[in-house]
Amino acid sequence: MTERLSSDELKRIEWFDGNYKEVKENIKKACAEAGRSEDEIIVLAATKTVPVSVINHAIDEGISFIGENRVQEFLSKKDELSQNVHRHFIGHLQTNKVKDIVGEVEMIHSVHSLKLAQEIDKQCAKLGKKMDILLEVNIGDEESKSGFKACEVGDAVQKIAELPNVSVKGLMAIPPICEQSEKISQYFAEMRKLFIDIEAKKLDNVNILYLSMGMSGDYSEAIKHGANIIRLGTCLFGARDYTKK
Ligand SMILES: *Cc1c(COP(=O)(O)O)cnc(C)c1O
Repeated sequence: MTERLSSDELKRIEWFDGNYKEVKENIKKACAEAGRSEDEIIVLAATKTVPVSVINHAIDEGISFIGENRVQEFLSKKDELSQNVHRHFIGHLQTNKVKDIVGEVEMIHSVHSLKLAQEIDKQCAKLGKKMDILLEVNIGDEESKSGFKACEVGDAVQKIAELPNVSVKGLMAIPPICEQSEKISQYFAEMRKLFIDIEAKKLDNVNILYLSMGMSGDYSEAIKHGANIIRLGTCLFGARDYTKK
């Protein structure tokens, strides 16, 4: 790399190397305990607020999926990002921003309403593109979060499956913050059940493959409950407040 890096960037790059090693070991352990293969697990780096230099370093070290949360931030980073990475959108997406992002990412994890899916379909039609999407489930039924309620997911998948330019590939969730690991396990177990139920419907235009759940604090638990995309930010890059780890 020829550009000069700031001390913050250098610090983050150094953190990343140690952190990623640890994360890989934890994944290995969780998979062993769950009787799963590590090859099933996609580690998606949640890169909000992380400078492009650090993201590109992570990609050089083996990260092959990244997810951004904000359209504006993503657009400002995308041209400098390494080409060797799958780009996903994982944040809350507003209908009026869909047109700016559909050409830029391979998958949108956070489809929280039929209206949003319809807009993605409409914008993708203009591009002649079919977008892979995951449906976001508000598994804790929290007021502050968007997403389908668990009881609405089956119906939503069926309706969205009729849209020609989107392809439902699975489910995503951000469970409530839990003090106890038994409680978070319960949410992950409910997600797995929904995932299996939807898969079993064998709908046309729907190939259910991905269960995107598990973040820095709970990814081992998520793996035990069938997650195959884990979305990791803090445990790879350090705290988003740059002054603390
Ligand atoms: C930030 C973010 C993550 C990663 O969170 P960490 O706790 O930092 O690992 C995962 N998923 C989504 C949707 C996020 O916005």
